[in-house]
Order: sequence, then C-alpha cells, then structure tokens
Amino acid sequence: ALRPYVVGNWKMNGLRASLAEARAIDRVAARYPQVDVGVAPPYTLVLALAEQAEHSAVGGQDCHAQAKGAFTGDVAAPMLADAGAGFVILGHSERRALHGESDALVQAKSTAALAAGLGVILCVGETEAERDAGEAIKVVAGQLKGSLVEGAAAAAKLAVAYEPVWAIGTGRVPSVEDVAAMHAAIRAELLAFYGDAGAAVRILYGGSVNAGNAVELLSVPEVGGALVGGASLTAESFGAIIHAA
Ligand code: 13P
Repeated sequence: ALRPYVVGNWKMNGLRASLAEARAIDRVAARYPQVDVGVAPPYTLVLALAEQAEHSAVGGQDCHAQAKGAFTGDVAAPMLADAGAGFVILGHSERRALHGESDALVQAKSTAALAAGLGVILCVGETEAERDAGEAIKVVAGQLKGSLVEGAAAAAKLAVAYEPVWAIGTGRVPSVEDVAAMHAAIRAELLAFYGDAGAAVRILYGGSVNAGNAVELLSVPEVGGALVGGASLTAESFGAIIHAA
C-alpha cells in the first residue's frame, strides 16, 4: 500500500504568529511516522516553516512556469525549493477560477516544479454544474490528460488531489460511492498515461475534510490521503485528520 499523505493548504491564511501552530502540527507529525504530512503556507511563511519543520514537508501553493525573469509578483519553483519547500500544489480550483489557469499552464508549471526537484500535488475537480450534468469523470479525465507531465520520473514526484469545486469550503462532501468512482477513474487515467508507474501515484481527496469525516473518506478505496483547507489551520483539527490516516 502507498504511504498515506495528508497535506494542509493554508491558502491566504497565516502570519508569523501561526509559526507556533505549524510547530504543533510538526509535533503531531512526529507521532505518525507512517504518514507523510505536508503544510503549504503562504509564500511569506515558507522559509520560516521549512526552517522549523522536522517531521513534515513544506510546500508552495503555486509557482510560475518560468525559472526566473521579469514576472512581477510571481514566485518561481527554484525559489520555493531554495526556501526549503519539498512540494508545490498546482492547478487548485481557486487558481483555475480566480486566475484563469488552464490545463496547459498547469502542465507548464508542473514541468517547472519537477525541474526544480519539487513534488507536485496536481488538483483536479468538477464544478457542481458539471456533476449535475453527469460529466464529472469526463471533466476530471480531461484535466488530467491536459496537465500531466510525461515520464516515470514525473510520476514518482506526483500526487493527484481530487477536489470537487462544490465541496471546497462548503461543508458538503460527495458520497463515498462517488468518491470511490472518481478515484478509480483517476487511477485508470494514471495507469493509461504512465503505465506501471501510475500505480505509485497517491490520489488525495480534498473538499471539506474535517476531523469528523476523515475516517470515512480516508477508508474509501484509492483514497491515499487528504488535501485539507480550513481544518488544516490548527494542530487540533489537522492532527485528528493525520490520526485518521
Ligand atoms: P476546505 O478543506 O477548506 O474545504 O478546502 C479544501 C481545499 O481547497 C484544499 O486545497
């Protein structure tokens, strides 16, 4: 079985005062050596978190597709790596919706992240309208085909996060059956794209994961971990999710 992977996406939350919470999360991670734990704080805290983290990985929430240059306000993958990040979240639905990111751009960013030695958590997921239209699996398969980076080396650094857009920050989660069907479909796409190397890619579920529903969600076949937003902001709630993994 693949090692469980539980990642906190702090989104645009966190000041230096939050470093103590991150230390508490790191202490929880120390108690669960069988679980891979990651925290993706805002850029301003990546370096500080990385300097204090001993049992958890630190990640970015986005990066630019170029390694450097005249791109005011952007952050490059080698900068994240230099600050101590081990991974980066790419293609999050908030980036897709609020910053117009396409599958092709997400693919280019993934290529840049891999070149910098970062692990990639590639986010995919359908909107509510797409699910209602019966197109959820088709949409997610299309996102994967459009943004996966070829090669076994890329597969070895990849995790996929299935995050239904309508489940993010809403307290609503898909049924266990729908999660199972989607994760099975994602696994099939990964095997078709990567061959055997696709079997080692962890597929995380994200969207309103909390201490109360984590056990059920994480026990669904092919759910190899969780990408957690709001509930990752405190060691108490995030620790309960790590425990559930
Ligand atoms: P919530 O856990 O707050 O619903 O956010 C999920 C998410 O978008 C993680 O990337």
